[in-house]
Amino acid sequence: MTAPNHFDTDVLIVGAGPTGLALATTLSRAGIRPIVVERLAAHQNTSRAAVIHAHTLEQLDGLGVSGPMLQEGLRLTRFSVRDRDQVLARLNFDWLPSRFACLLMLPQDRTEAILTNALEQAKTTVRWGCSLESLRVSEAGVEAVVSSTAGTQTLRARYVVGADGMHSRVRQAAGIGFSGHSYEQSFILADVEMDWKPGRDEVMLFFSPEGLLVVAPLPGNAYRVVASVDEAPATPEASDIEQILRRRGPASSGASVQTVRWSSRFRLHHRVADHYRHGRLLLVGDAAHVHSPAGGQGMNTGLVDACVLGKLLTQALSQRVLADPLDSYEAMRRPAAKEVLALAGRLTTMAIVKGTFRRFLRNLAFRLLGALPPLRRRLELSLSGLSRRAAAVLPASQSSAVCEMPREAAL
Ligand SMILES: Cc1cc2nc3c(=O)[nH]c(=O)nc-3n(C[C@H](O)[C@H](O)[C@H](O)COP(=O)(O)OP(=O)(O)OC[C@H]3O[C@@H](n4cnc5c(N)ncnc54)[C@H](O)[C@@H]3O)c2cc1C
Repeated sequence: MTAPNHFDTDVLIVGAGPTGLALATTLSRAGIRPIVVERLAAHQNTSRAAVIHAHTLEQLDGLGVSGPMLQEGLRLTRFSVRDRDQVLARLNFDWLPSRFACLLMLPQDRTEAILTNALEQAKTTVRWGCSLESLRVSEAGVEAVVSSTAGTQTLRARYVVGADGMHSRVRQAAGIGFSGHSYEQSFILADVEMDWKPGRDEVMLFFSPEGLLVVAPLPGNAYRVVASVDEAPATPEASDIEQILRRRGPASSGASVQTVRWSSRFRLHHRVADHYRHGRLLLVGDAAHVHSPAGGQGMNTGLVDACVLGKLLTQALSQRVLADPLDSYEAMRRPAAKEVLALAGRLTTMAIVKGTFRRFLRNLAFRLLGALPPLRRRLELSLSGLSRRAAAVLPASQSSAVCEMPREAAL
């Protein structure tokens, strides 16, 4: 399938982060040739999102990437919530009704490398160092001005997808609001090599009066450490991490950090786009929703958006359907993002709660959750994304509502 002469492409994707790559691969495997522009000269080689959930792996399996991800990643099945030495609740993911019943630990740069490889196998390459400058939308299509060291160029596309992150230019061009708020606290994040006596077989979330701490094993004998702090240093060092582990982790066993492989700080935002589509402009991933990393949902939600949008765009471009398949996109994926925002927001608020009595109530709530299997399973399904499976299933009526309509008219 190729775009007609007056279009350079059916779909222009702005941004080659994980969601742009997954969308481009979905389209390319369906025979559509997207153009992907990315303003960076190459991938960011930082680990950022470190967990891939069961529902995401189910969706990505259609792109042939779940196998390589499972090979490289570290498969864990347990997640515990603790107050220093006490385990308040332990979640298990080995019973999940999925062939990917695990928490797969894999740094984001490796996820992006595997997706890029799949995209290249599908015969599409990213235009690195190419930045979207402006968009002009008309009835007939979209004109996008892009710039690179080679100069400025106008690309004509039927659809433009903003996979361009939180500060999305596509979202701004579409005039779509990004409602929500930002948290006051900042977080530190570090990938370290250390002696960690509690072991490498589960992700641990510690509550402490000073704030939250997450310690998660990563492939290659490393650990991801995330902690909330009032004012984080720009690049936390081994001594900063050790101090946090000592003051918030298990009182009975400290940790000595040998190497900091990568560290950073970030602020949390809690926002969702007012709409996911404005005519020929669509949003996916962080361009559509951002929230706290509690529960590791951000990149996962974006990757599922990308797989769904890829299928809907394929239908819109290739099938002669009565209804516009893209009309379903926002109805399917925005409620899923709002559910994820609520989940991540609740976990974050509970984790950083202040005051002895409120902390006591919070711990009691988690103890109850740990003791009541139906409640626990609900949270496990929600974290794995499987409770939102329905939000990734294309409505049956769409694929059956085919009529003999010329392709142009169907757009
Ligand atoms: C420090 C840090 C830690 C994180 N930790 C976690 C975590 O533990 N768990 C989790 O789930 N998530 C985490 N995240 C969030 C996660 O990284 C994002 O959810 C994920 O990267 C979103 O993917 P995306 O493709 O939608 O957007 P991005 O990864 O932001 O990619 C957008 C791309 O668009 C490009 N771009 C932007 N504007 C233009 C333009 N005008 N023209 C061309 N290209 C453009 C950018 O260069 C970028 O490459 C973290 C993020 C950060 C920064």
